[in-house]
Amino acid sequence: MSKQYDLVVIGSGPGGYVAAARAASLGLSTAIVEKDKALGGTCLHRGCIPTKALLHAADTYDEIKHASLIGIKTSGVSIDWSEIQKYKNKVVGTNAFGVAHLMKTNKIDVFSGFGSLVDKNTVSVDGPKKEVLKTKNILLAVGSKPKNLPCCGDKPDKKILTSDTILDLDHIPSSLTIVGGGVIGIEFASIFVRFGTKVSVIEYMPNILSMADEDCIKELKFQLEKQGVVFYTSASVDKLDAKTKEVKTVFTQDNKKMEISSEYVLVSIGRTPLTSAMGLENTKVVLDKGFVKINQCMQTDESNIYAIGDCVNTPWLAHVASKEGLIAANHMAGKKTNILNYDHTPSCVYSEPPVAWSGLTESEAKARGLDIKVSKFDFIRNGKAAILGKTRGFVKFICDKKYGEILGVHIIGPQATELLAEPAFAMQMQATIDDIADVVHAHPTLYEAIYEAALGATDQAIHG
Ligand code: FAD
Repeated sequence: MSKQYDLVVIGSGPGGYVAAARAASLGLSTAIVEKDKALGGTCLHRGCIPTKALLHAADTYDEIKHASLIGIKTSGVSIDWSEIQKYKNKVVGTNAFGVAHLMKTNKIDVFSGFGSLVDKNTVSVDGPKKEVLKTKNILLAVGSKPKNLPCCGDKPDKKILTSDTILDLDHIPSSLTIVGGGVIGIEFASIFVRFGTKVSVIEYMPNILSMADEDCIKELKFQLEKQGVVFYTSASVDKLDAKTKEVKTVFTQDNKKMEISSEYVLVSIGRTPLTSAMGLENTKVVLDKGFVKINQCMQTDESNIYAIGDCVNTPWLAHVASKEGLIAANHMAGKKTNILNYDHTPSCVYSEPPVAWSGLTESEAKARGLDIKVSKFDFIRNGKAAILGKTRGFVKFICDKKYGEILGVHIIGPQATELLAEPAFAMQMQATIDDIADVVHAHPTLYEAIYEAALGATDQAIHG
């Protein structure tokens, strides 16, 4: 006999498992279906968590190498890659255990296997055990997978990596060509260049991180170049040839044919939603370029089927997936829920230096014809940044000139991804730049740079 639920969630990433926990806490009988070996999704097993563990290892190595600058002498510092991998895998394992425990404590039934829709109220699970689940609601939280370069074919050579396979390398590559200078490509560049890999980045657009503020990109590029990363922008890859010992990347830049050879190539040119072969055609769910079409409550065109996270066309971020999961769970349980304002989504690049932003860039604000005031405060004038020896970078506010509305904030420099919390919260609460300037900020802290940028925007600059 088939099992009966209020909700069946397909996919256990940060969208799916958060939605399942919320739905269960609201009293919905809930099941979750996952095709991978462990719960947690891309974010936990192949994304946010393992990459940040590797970035932390690179940060620590960097700090130790430069410790003599503050009078701490070190010698014989070396990297044990297999221990770094063990550390990374342990962090992932601990978090995966946490997700499984959360499902257990919320009495959520976990089914292992590939979930597909038989009709709008039936999910079939194709796994070690075949199951048929009857349900009032379905949540599609199936995420995405890395896109391939068309020139690589379906089964690229082992030396051509994706963001999944690069995580399990058994040694640090001597050289790496990264195709795609988006967030994922830049984070891997920042990991490997600091472990001694010769890194080149090939980007199709005129600049890396095309969605970030131009001043931040300029500073990031400068600092990564200083570390040894070589950038080729406005460049398109024609061919990857992996027949020889090294992979040959043939590309065109400024109408000139170029070629780089490297031990590995990482293709990080975007991701594709995992919505095929799921039986969506058995329902009224509509796809648009592979993404599931939804409304503001995360409902698809089949009103009892919801979709969230990387399989819908909203920012591809774990925290967005989780928030969408909460909205979907609240809505199906009949709870009032806020609409998500995607304009205020915090975005972070955990490179060295890190970059973080929310809201409009300066050029976006100008393109919209807004009357703006821009205020920038450099970390070189911040006491805590001097203590840390990280004085490059800045906090930049884009504000409405007349009313002081915070339209955008852009930070590059020490702890940028943590510092973003204050201005992002202010924007969400519709606080003005004057409100930030009114708050007493502790000294000496990095977040005084936010205060000083706010003082600058309200014509009260002290150190600026
Ligand atoms: P996913 O996390 O992809 O989870 C979907 C799950 O569904 C998977 O476990 C999959 O196996 C399962 N599934 C798919 N189809 C089926 C099926 N038919 N049946 C059963 N199970 C199925 N975001 C951040 O916010 N911060 C970061 O620092 C960050 N770093 C990243 C680094 C990398 C290298 C990558 C690749 C991504 C990163 N992201 C980051 C993005 C983030 O991982 C995704 O936005 C997030 O995981 C999306 O969550 P999701 O729940 O929609 O999907």
